[in-house]
Amino acid sequence: MLIDSHCHLMKFHQRGDLPEILREAEDMGVGHMIAIGTDKDDWAINLELAQLYPKQISYTVGLHPTSVEDDWEQQLRGLQKYLTGNQLPQAIGEIGLDHFHLPKKNPDKAKFLKERQVLAFERQLQIAKEIELPVVIHSRNAFEESVDCIDQSGLSWEKVIFHCFAEGKEEINILNERGGMASFTGIVTYKNGENVRNAMLAQGLERLILETDSPYLTPEPHRGKENHPGYTHHIAEVCAKLFNVSGSIISTISTRNTKSFFGL
Ligand SMILES: [Zn+2]
Repeated sequence: MLIDSHCHLMKFHQRGDLPEILREAEDMGVGHMIAIGTDKDDWAINLELAQLYPKQISYTVGLHPTSVEDDWEQQLRGLQKYLTGNQLPQAIGEIGLDHFHLPKKNPDKAKFLKERQVLAFERQLQIAKEIELPVVIHSRNAFEESVDCIDQSGLSWEKVIFHCFAEGKEEINILNERGGMASFTGIVTYKNGENVRNAMLAQGLERLILETDSPYLTPEPHRGKENHPGYTHHIAEVCAKLFNVSGSIISTISTRNTKSFFGL
């Protein structure tokens, strides 16, 4: 059995085809998935889905860096209720820094947004530290800054996963030497994904964790179509080739790692 450690189910849920998506995932050997939070709207739905499909879905809550807006402090107050409810999230996330989606032609605005992202990130790292939950990090064009924030937070690096790792070997070493990890998406199946494949190999089979980040980042051979959790198996197949082991070893190891990291 495989686990998709990072997906977004809102779109399927709203379109009404989630039951079909779940069936398909099961048929493809993907028995469980973690529905990742980005803002208050999907936190509520993710919790509802985790209650409705406890065998197949777990959830997280976190304010994504591109969702940090004027009401961010209010949103984080709203996040607290999930931490005292009867079904706790598996992690705080996805949280972090995104310098890719900043306004390119307005440096003052970009600076303001960057600083606000840092505030929301720091606050959420403290929340995770207090309640001893892992964190799922979204870092885009902001690797060093994200590492600095985590270093300064005092959160144990054992609880840190950089999702959709898109950096290279040097950067993954920076995470691994601190005790942190990265999870890998369909990027490892892309022709131009050499750098990321090398990072995955450098982290090693023993620390492998897989994710689709669906509905985005569809792996080959379906690139261009909509992604869904069942496609974790395409990523696993490519990993089997790269690590030169059987598919069942990839499933066993990645499932074990995902369960132990997220406390499933
Ligand atoms: Zn995501």
